[in-house]
Amino acid sequence: MTEPLYRSDPYAREAPATVTDAAPGRIVLDAAPFYPRGGGQPGDRGELIRADGSFVSIADTVYEPDRTTIRLVPAEGAALPSAGERVTARLDWPTRYARMRAHTALHLLSVALPYPVTGGAVGEAEGRLDFDSGETAFDRAQIEAELARLVATDAAVTTRWIADEELAANPGLVKTMKVKPPVGSGKVRLVEIAGLDLQPCGGTHVARLSEIGRIEVTGIEKKGKQNRRVRIRLLETPATG
Ligand SMILES: [Zn+2]
Repeated sequence: MTEPLYRSDPYAREAPATVTDAAPGRIVLDAAPFYPRGGGQPGDRGELIRADGSFVSIADTVYEPDRTTIRLVPAEGAALPSAGERVTARLDWPTRYARMRAHTALHLLSVALPYPVTGGAVGEAEGRLDFDSGETAFDRAQIEAELARLVATDAAVTTRWIADEELAANPGLVKTMKVKPPVGSGKVRLVEIAGLDLQPCGGTHVARLSEIGRIEVTGIEKKGKQNRRVRIRLLETPATG
């Protein structure tokens, strides 16, 4: 298994790690800041820095079928490190941070439009959600104004784990959540935007809403009889260091 550093610290841009397995198309570390593709958010890119200063370019990150081993997918033609080798794992941070901001903005979109979400995708400083909204007409200016109001609260975004039993003992919690958490795995990761949103989510988020900046609604499309697809884009490019 791989320790998923992105979960406890989504701002970790790099971390020391030991290669536990390496084969064509597959590198496994004991601990990794890389987010594996899932929940509509793409897998991280980046590089491994070897002791001799050379780089192994990482093109994508996915979960192995066991869901506890994170597999880094090396770029085509990249030299492979050896098992046991110490490396520094470094993210393509501007890309990941743009995704963190967009992902958190999508939580806000689901607050602004309180309808069941049927799909979604996170891009770089952009994203989309599909809503089962029936015949309700969406107003672009109204959604943008509501998103701006939510961002301006600068609410804190936090995560916590809750055991299945605790969830069962607090039925009111499920009511406050938009998405029903999956039960059976023993515990669920909850993402809370203070006072605004609470839902189970495994993705990466910013710590405060002000990091998102201005959000533009770039499209509202009809998807079938029941669904509306809403696309958003972030208008500000923050300094990422
Ligand atoms: Zn999320």
